Amino acid sequence: MSQYVNEVLESLQKKAPWESLFIQAATEILHSLGPVLEKEPKYKKHAILERLVEPERAIGFRVPWVDDKGQIRVNPGWRVQFNSAIGPYKGGIRFHPNVTLDTLKFLGFEQIFKNSLTGLPMGGGKGGSNFDPNGKSDAEIMRFCQSFMMELFRHIGPNTDVPAGDIGVGGREVGYLFGMYKKLANEFTGVLTGKGQYWGGSLVRPEATGFGVVYFAEEMLKTKGDSMKGKKVAVSGFGNVAWGAVTKATQLGAKVVTISGPDGYIYDMDGISGEKIVHMEEMLRIDRMAVAPYVEKYKNAQFHAGKRPWEQAVDVALPCAIQNELNLDEAKILLANGCKAVVEGANMPSTLDAVEFFQANSDKILYAPGKASNAGGVATSGLEMSQNSMRLGWTAEEVDARLHQIMINIHKSCVDAASRFGTPGNYVNGANIAGFLKVADSMIDQGLV
Ligand code: GLU
Repeated sequence: MSQYVNEVLESLQKKAPWESLFIQAATEILHSLGPVLEKEPKYKKHAILERLVEPERAIGFRVPWVDDKGQIRVNPGWRVQFNSAIGPYKGGIRFHPNVTLDTLKFLGFEQIFKNSLTGLPMGGGKGGSNFDPNGKSDAEIMRFCQSFMMELFRHIGPNTDVPAGDIGVGGREVGYLFGMYKKLANEFTGVLTGKGQYWGGSLVRPEATGFGVVYFAEEMLKTKGDSMKGKKVAVSGFGNVAWGAVTKATQLGAKVVTISGPDGYIYDMDGISGEKIVHMEEMLRIDRMAVAPYVEKYKNAQFHAGKRPWEQAVDVALPCAIQNELNLDEAKILLANGCKAVVEGANMPSTLDAVEFFQANSDKILYAPGKASNAGGVATSGLEMSQNSMRLGWTAEEVDARLHQIMINIHKSCVDAASRFGTPGNYVNGANIAGFLKVADSMIDQGLV
């Protein structure tokens, strides 16, 4: 690994050792860049890494709101505008009790490379709060979103920063955020993506992340003369990404046998398909933290309390829940059980040592980092931005076809970059290098800003 990379990582460790998620994400990415930095000294000369790891802007603000009992509550809110070298900041907003500035720096940093990989003109950003939407009434969610936007609105815009959903922020929240933005800015623009169908949202955006994960998995398997058809698949999570992934995997003839929540996981030997997929949405509405109630409705299924699905013998694993949900021991179990591909739907679901293990075993197991395989969500957000700018809407077929092609292109970019820099089959290096090159060269072109 290059000394330059070491120096930059050490400086992060010194500056803010408590930012463990951000340091984890930076370590994974920067470790991939050694061969590029050695071949192209211009990046060190222009201090590209030092500039990349420092957000262009990070805004922190107070979000006061009133709960249904009339009590005043306060949460912190943030927007990390990480990098705008190739387009306006773009990335979701996460409402989850474990969100800190560190979380959003890791997510914003990942987003720079992910967005670059899509081939669309989008910079990287992320926002959110430790607000916990679980158990909150509709009115409480609305008041929180409105208060959040009362500050955020002055920092965003269709040509500046375009937020979207993420964990805890779906169509309902985007609606409340958009409504308040429109009122404050007095303009109807594509300032958020993931909007409703009647007010500027793109068709297929809700399914896009999960669909993209499975399209990517299909491309990976194709390199081995294989496909998703007939595969036994473990999915984690039961939110938007998991829902899309289960839907598309089933459509392609795979059998999904698990979904999971913070309370444990479901194993359904009959396969999670048809009305069971529709039921996932209902479950999420009732309790975001519990997947257990599934077994009350589907009696053949088992609930494994406090466990994760990676202990099951499957052909394909799709981690679609949250960061660090798949560790080294679980990576080893997956491989030992004959798993052929791990394709990430969440952002950074595998721990650093699990990622290293997958990379070291890339001849036995295919592994795709989220920034490549889950980029279909933000890519479709990019398509929503285009439709908003044109004041036109594409059909579902057209959006889906574009999404599919973008995932094929991302796969090819990863494969090509990995080979070009001497690590064929290493999707981590491929994704990081391909994402990096465009952003770094654009930063050089635009001077020291
Ligand atoms: N939150 C999603 C992600 O992690 C989507 C972001 C977007 O659509 O802007 O990529």
